[in-house]
Amino acid sequence: MLSCKQTAELISRGVDGRLSFWVRMSLRLHLAMCRGCAAYRAQIEGLHAALRLRFGPTGRTPGKMPEETRRKIREALRRSGKGEGESRPVPGDPDSP
Ligand SMILES: [Zn+2]
Repeated sequence: MLSCKQTAELISRGVDGRLSFWVRMSLRLHLAMCRGCAAYRAQIEGLHAALRLRFGPTGRTPGKMPEETRRKIREALRRSGKGEGESRPVPGDPDSP
């Protein structure tokens, strides 16, 4: 039976998915019986899920697209009628008529 301290340690390491089958099983057993550790795990996993959402699985930041894609989007925005000939810095400017 794992102690809460061991469990907490495994949880923070286990999110890397490098636990052996048996360690995972004892961890699950402990989590099934211990609310504190279950809450801790939920917290850690939520954090990691949030990090994955923010930075992506490969650590790339979203919003960093290739220059060509950005250029195409700019062109499409220009073609869509907004700012023909004029250069508005922000499309959808609240001050625009
Ligand atoms: Zn515990």
